[in-house]
Amino acid sequence: MALGRPEDYLKRVSSRRVELYVAGERVENPLEHPVTRPVIETISKVYELTLREEYRGILTAKGLSGDEVSRFLHVERSADDLVKRVESQRIVNAYVGNCNYRCTGHDGINALYAATYEVDEKLGTDYHKRFTEYLKYLQANDLVVATAMTDVKGDRSKRPGEQRGRPLTYVHIVEERRDGIIVKGAKMHISGAALADEILVVPTRAMGPDEREYAVAFAVTPDTKGLYFVSSWNPFDSFKRVSRDLGVDADYPSPYGHRNTYLIIFDEVFVPRERVFLAGEYEYASKIVEYFIAHHRAAGAGCKAGFVDVILGAAALAADANGVLSARYIQEKLAEIKFHGEAAYAPGLAAAIRGWRHPSGAFIPDYTLANVAKLEAVNHLKEAIVSAAEIGGGIVVNAPSLKDLKIDGVGDKVAEALKANEAYTAEERLRAMRLLQLWTSGPHLVGLIQGGGPPATQWVALRRTVKNELPKLIEGAKRLAGIGG
Ligand SMILES: Cc1cc2nc3c(=O)[nH]c(=O)nc-3n(C[C@H](O)[C@H](O)[C@H](O)COP(=O)(O)OP(=O)(O)OC[C@H]3O[C@@H](n4cnc5c(N)ncnc54)[C@H](O)[C@@H]3O)c2cc1C
Repeated sequence: MALGRPEDYLKRVSSRRVELYVAGERVENPLEHPVTRPVIETISKVYELTLREEYRGILTAKGLSGDEVSRFLHVERSADDLVKRVESQRIVNAYVGNCNYRCTGHDGINALYAATYEVDEKLGTDYHKRFTEYLKYLQANDLVVATAMTDVKGDRSKRPGEQRGRPLTYVHIVEERRDGIIVKGAKMHISGAALADEILVVPTRAMGPDEREYAVAFAVTPDTKGLYFVSSWNPFDSFKRVSRDLGVDADYPSPYGHRNTYLIIFDEVFVPRERVFLAGEYEYASKIVEYFIAHHRAAGAGCKAGFVDVILGAAALAADANGVLSARYIQEKLAEIKFHGEAAYAPGLAAAIRGWRHPSGAFIPDYTLANVAKLEAVNHLKEAIVSAAEIGGGIVVNAPSLKDLKIDGVGDKVAEALKANEAYTAEERLRAMRLLQLWTSGPHLVGLIQGGGPPATQWVALRRTVKNELPKLIEGAKRLAGIGG
């Protein structure tokens, strides 16, 4: 079985016992919980989309054994592959209107595939062989992988090594044994992690020679002893829960929800040797980060373009329900949203096309263009959100509950008052507004800015590129200005 089915995933996720908490409560059955269920719905839908003939070769690729595997588990081998990766993000995210929860796994796999090759070449270790075996296992079983890169970090002004007195900051090795390592620390913001099959843990930054214990990469399953998952909890989670308790699930219309992330505590977790992919080789922590970033920020363009597709559809639906879809100003705004989607998409495709062949045979997107793609995604998606808010009107945030349409003796009057375009019932209009509310007033904006690293980190990368290129550029300027010989 190289391409999984939703039912296989559902079986795995329901049979696993994970130490999982949402808003202070232990979640015994994530399939029934309003916060975790949408993640499972999303991942199931991604499996289903992957099996569709129309997406063959885009959502799928040829794996290590020659079988057809999920693109999310594929080591990209050409610029064309990388382009398909960006496209796949757009297709999937536009369908579920949310994070697909398999993207970071892809980027972690591709980063480790290349970086472990380099460690072995230089130091004679066997990480790459080990990782390749692990990858074959992932591909053969089509497992969902979440990459846990971001540490909780503690005091941001201090390096990992300066926070040794606080063991629950950066994930690190506390003991090396013949059969494996024991790790401690905490990662945060990890998308869908508790509902993944595997968690790939990688460093979040470059490490120095005195920070060897922090230069660690490995894989664990979520039910491993010593792992604790605490879910994100934002106003939309409580809204979803309250809506369910009130019996109006439709107040929160999408079954795929909004992004769910996890704080993961690693409390002396044992990782067997065959699942360890870096253990102390500090010079390579930055390589893993660099390759992950190149993949994640380039593919993020497809992710954001997919989101803009959803925003465009939701804004147009809202405009239609309001009766103004054909108004000239609205049409101009919709065209602007389209522009922002395609402008966010383009640099990701460019980073893919300008990808380079790593000695391991893997292809990696262009680093500079991937950083530009991330910055452009922030600029353009932000603008699309503002235009959508303008199109929808105040009802996007001021709509009453769908339950108010059912109040005895009053509900009919509420419905009559809220009807706009005759082609839509009051309930349909409210549903359209709720969808737009998620995009204009939900957690997406911060997710857009911080996900894949805050803009400051992209500017650091660009400043470094400028520094490298400046001598040549100044030479060119001197030549044109007639300075020197
Ligand atoms: C919705 C969402 C999903 C995510 N999914 C994942 C995931 O699946 N896997 C994963 O690994 N990560 C994930 N992330 C994490 C994401 O990469 C981080 O949020 C991001 O890198 C910023 O880290 P932080 O949140 O700790 O912010 P901080 O590090 O606290 O940064 C906040 C601000 O402070 C600045 N800052 C931080 N440190 C310094 C310093 N030393 N000096 C000066 N300025 C500083 C930053 O530039 C930024 O502007 C996700 C994040 C979000 C919001």
